[in-house]
Amino acid sequence: MPGTPDEPRQGAADARRSAPDRGRTLLGPALTLIHTGRAPTRSALTSALDVTRATAGAVSGELEALGLITVDSSPAGGGRGRPSHRLAIDPAGPVVIAAQIHADGLSVALAGLGGRLEPPVHLPLPAATDPVRLLRAVTAAGAELARASSRRCLGAALALPNPVTEPDGTALAALHFAWPSGTPVADLFAEEIRKADLGPDVRRPFPSAVANDANLAALAEHRHGAGRGSRHLLLVTSGHRGVGGALVIDGRLHTGSAGLALEVGHLTVDPQGRPCQCGNRGCLNAETDPDALFAAVGRTPDPDRPLFDQARELARSAVGDPEARSAVEHIVDRLGLGLAGMVNILNPDRIVLSGLHRDLLAAAPERLASVVAERCLWGRSGRVPIVPAEVVHAGLVGAAELAWEPCLHEPQAVVTA
Ligand SMILES: [Zn+2]
Repeated sequence: MPGTPDEPRQGAADARRSAPDRGRTLLGPALTLIHTGRAPTRSALTSALDVTRATAGAVSGELEALGLITVDSSPAGGGRGRPSHRLAIDPAGPVVIAAQIHADGLSVALAGLGGRLEPPVHLPLPAATDPVRLLRAVTAAGAELARASSRRCLGAALALPNPVTEPDGTALAALHFAWPSGTPVADLFAEEIRKADLGPDVRRPFPSAVANDANLAALAEHRHGAGRGSRHLLLVTSGHRGVGGALVIDGRLHTGSAGLALEVGHLTVDPQGRPCQCGNRGCLNAETDPDALFAAVGRTPDPDRPLFDQARELARSAVGDPEARSAVEHIVDRLGLGLAGMVNILNPDRIVLSGLHRDLLAAAPERLASVVAERCLWGRSGRVPIVPAEVVHAGLVGAAELAWEPCLHEPQAVVTA
């Protein structure tokens, strides 16, 4: 870094620096603030880091020299006082490969900092869905994007629709694909990445990571979407099959002792209900996912179109279709029971609903809020805001967050490697 940055001022800054991810330099924290939109100007960066203007100038200059951000010193115009330099993610800066495997297919995209996804590629699931075949298909698609891009690629991460253990990265209960429980998916993905042709410009070993899709979607919403500014963010989502949950506390995912926390899909919301893949009946999974909505309305989805898309259309049609309305209300009541149980245990300050649950919220917002409030004592006096997810392709954006993690921690080490 040019010059030696001043020490941050005492007090609050010291308390923050005691967090485990702070330390060596201010580059990581500064890049994180710019990446999440919390420091759009150098004066915002100065106050967010609690440092002097000179230090903030040195830090932003160094991030600019690393090709990660741009610093625009031309006055914004119109404002009073001295204009501050504007900070933005460099649109020509490096990218990562973000990938997602779900019940209806594979999605892969390159992603810059700032939650900026390039247009994703969507592919059908290969005929054989054994782990190596699927991971090879994902890696091949990502490698093709990386080779075709003029931007340097720094890492890859993959979102999966099943629980993934930490720190070893094994897939548990991968019911959608009938993988053996305990498949070492992080190792298998790393091996496919090792063998892939990612172009001449990448460093080796090329970092890769794997995590659960709901966890990653929650991270995406917290940093770039409907969860911004919340301190205890609960995300519940129904994607292509089943239901996932995640909790972000003070900006960090709460993943439990082994990565398996918030497995909310098997909460019982109707003991006499529909059978779940786990062997029980009436799990949130089986009562509030796309299959459940079609069962409730008594219609058969078109087998040639993704079930998820059809379920969303069905939920949206509740406005003018009494049968759809009744089915939506049935599912919303079940969802409300599940959310109330989570609210009582976790005491979140915001709930973000994603996937099909977002459409159910849009179709019956008051009903859902009432069911939740009725079932939690404190909910009657102070309702938890239940809001729709905002991030498009949140699984991919969240996978990008995971892939960016080393760079956000130590930008200099990653970019100059
Ligand atoms: Zn279950």
